[in-house]
This record gives sequence, C-alpha cells and structure tokens, in this order.
Amino acid sequence: MRTLNDFTAITGEAIARAKRLFGSPIYLYDERLIAEKCAAALQMPHAYGLTVRFAMKANPNRAILRIIHGCGLGIDASSLNEAIRAHMAGIEYRDIILTTQEVPSGEERAALERMMLEGLKYNVCSLRQLDLIGAFAAKHKIDLSIRVHPGVGSGESASRNTGDDYSCFGIHQRDIPEAVRIAAQMGVRFAQVHTHIGSGGDPDMWRQNIDLELDTLERDFPHASSISFGGGFCEVRMPGEKAADIEALGLYAKAQIEAFHHKTGRKLKMEIEPGTFITANAGYMVTEVLDKKSTGPSGFNFIVMDGGMELNARPLMYGSRHPFYVISKDGELLSSQFDAKFDAASYCAIPVGRCCESGDSQSLDEAGLTVPRAMAEPEIGDILVVGGVGAYCAAMSPYNYNSHTQAPEVLLTRDGQLKLIRKAQTLGQIVENELD
Ligand SMILES: *Cc1c(COP(=O)(O)O)cnc(C)c1O
Repeated sequence: MRTLNDFTAITGEAIARAKRLFGSPIYLYDERLIAEKCAAALQMPHAYGLTVRFAMKANPNRAILRIIHGCGLGIDASSLNEAIRAHMAGIEYRDIILTTQEVPSGEERAALERMMLEGLKYNVCSLRQLDLIGAFAAKHKIDLSIRVHPGVGSGESASRNTGDDYSCFGIHQRDIPEAVRIAAQMGVRFAQVHTHIGSGGDPDMWRQNIDLELDTLERDFPHASSISFGGGFCEVRMPGEKAADIEALGLYAKAQIEAFHHKTGRKLKMEIEPGTFITANAGYMVTEVLDKKSTGPSGFNFIVMDGGMELNARPLMYGSRHPFYVISKDGELLSSQFDAKFDAASYCAIPVGRCCESGDSQSLDEAGLTVPRAMAEPEIGDILVVGGVGAYCAAMSPYNYNSHTQAPEVLLTRDGQLKLIRKAQTLGQIVENELD
C-alpha cells in the first residue's frame, strides 16, 4: 500500500478509514514519525550533555505531549497555563521550563511559586520578572534561567537595529549588567543562559547566536552550567525546501562548547527546544471535497473543502505552503505533492475552506493571494488532505470562526490503530459561556 510520501506510515487507505470512523474534517497524526523526530533531536551532537525540550505551543494535545515525553524529551512552556496543562498530562514540573511574557500576580503568582518549589525551571525574560521572583528564588535557593535578547549587532556598537526594534523577547544585551546587579543584590543565581532567535531561522543566524550567547555567558554569568539555544529548526514541508541540518548545527555547537571549556575550564550542558521539527510533518488535515466551482475561462478552478483556515491558519498568517494529497472515497491515493508527474500542465485548482473570508484558502502567497496548485482532479466526496499541519495548526487556528466546531484529533499509533485523542467540539460548547 502506497504511503502519502516517503516519511510517513500513513496510506490513502488509512486516511479513508479515519474519515469513515471519525468524519471530516479531522487532524490525523503519525505517532511513528513523532517518535523518529524525537530520536533524531536526542541524537544531536553535543559536548557535555544534551536536554531536548518540546516547545509545546506547537501542539499541546495531552496524548502528543505524553508520546513526546515518553521518548525522553522535556517540555518548554510558553505560559503558566501551558505548564499547568503539561502537568495535567502527567509531566512533572521538574521536566518543564517556563519561558513567558506573562508577569504573574495574585493567584497566578502563587501558582508559579508552587510550581517552582516542585522543580519548574523559570526562564526570566524581563527585568520586571526578575525583580518580582528574585527574592523568592533566593529564599528557596532556586536557580533561575535567563533569556537573553540577542540584539543582533548590539555587541559591536550602540546603534539600534531591526533586531532591537521588532522583537522584545528576553532581556536585551544592554540590560544584562542591570539584571546581574539585581540578581547579586538579591542573592539569586542564573544557572542557565537561554536564547531563542525565532522560528524557521537560518542556520547562519543559529551559529552566530551560539557564539554570541557563549560570549555573554562567559562575560556575565559565572554560575551558569547550562546553555539553551532555543528552537527554530526549519522543517521541510514542501518538495524543494531545505530542512535545518541538526547534525551540522550540533557539531558546531559541540565544537564551540568544547572550545569554551578549553578556554575557561567550564563544561556546559546544552539544551534545545524544537517545536516545528518534532511534530510539523506528523500532522495531516483530512477534509472532504464539498463542491467544485470555477471563475470562468480566464479564472481558476476552486475546490471547496469542509475545513480550511479554521484548522490551518498558517497560509493566511504567513503565506506558508503545505503539501496536498488527493485521495478517492475508497482510499486510493490519486495524487501526492511529492509526485513529479503533477505539474502546471495538469489540472490546477485553488483549494478553499468554508469560511466567508476570501483568505480562507490553503494555498496563498505571502501577499495573501490565492495560488492554484497542480493535483489530480478530485470528485465531490473525495478526500483532500493537507500535510505539514502537526505544529501551530490545531494549536493556533481561529477554530470557532463562522461557528465551526473545533475538529477532532486522531492518532495513527505505532501499531497501526486509529485512536481518537480529542473529541469533536459541539455547538453547545461554543455557546455555553454566553449570557443574555
Ligand atoms: C516557539 C518557541 C520554540 C520553538 O520554535 P520552533 O520554531 O517551533 O522550533 C522554542 N523556544 C521558545 C522559547 C519558543 O517560544
């Protein structure tokens, strides 16, 4: 039986079976691929130890978190609620780092303290966060992590640059002396220096960041025994794209950390926090073709699917490109984005969703214009599958827009079972908190 592409175990037959069992639209995840990606991340070269944490904002479903944690990864949480959610999935606070823009107060502050006492690692991201948590951490002898804003170029001159202007994550280089002063005054130590340069970053930037971070660590953080390089490993979703070479990046990090040891006598442990890399390609969005239309001889063919931007907003938000697969009602794979035989000379169509929104297409360019794609021509009732939706899709889509209900999530387990891992939302759940 032919699989959709050469990195998944999912066949057209499995897709048709999932649709018969759970309807459409649904998300379908490939457990085997998730496990393989976890293993690949854990094999990244390192010098004196490696911790891999899954950036759970990419896909926070409890079943997915448990699979990934079971493979030996920790968790990177982006909010207090995410940390609590991971804990609800059975993951101990000592396996979780919290990196957040939030400034918890009141109840939330009390919750944060309880979590830290149970081992949650707190990655301080602003001077205010440090001010607020420092005394508590010092009193309980809890070491902190510090997120440093790389402020690219700021090491060379005081001039401002786009890095400074456009992002505010972490404590900027220029505020590091102040952070160090506050920490010393309060008697709290930074055991880790952290940077996340962004998602889908280019490998040169990643390498540059390693150097910059090691410089900062050497200059300002004598107690740090660990360095985190964040996430941002690009993943290939479409044919022709280039994935981050984590082997090569790891070899570079290893060499620099070893050089740092020779220079300073300090052996640093390393952490990474991939999100995209672990789950992006393990997720598929399974939809039924509801209708076909065209806009005339000078226009385009359109395929109306029963799910669109409310399941995957990435094309609309970023102009991201995702692969398409056309599958017959009875599970025959009619075309795969990875087949060379479907080109511009074949049938081309623009797949759109059901939302009353001209941007509700799964094929858009960066300017937000719809782009036709070559594929086998589906019949109404056939299945159109969108790949590469395992990260930042179920987690990040406007799923109740047009009062559509949030789609269920299904897992193809390592032994070939289809398992429901999140039930379909109901219309009642959408309106249950509304009041007259
Ligand atoms: C989002 C995020 C990540 C993961 O980014 P990917 O591009 O999905 O790998 C890692 N670390 C932090 C702090 C993040 O905010």
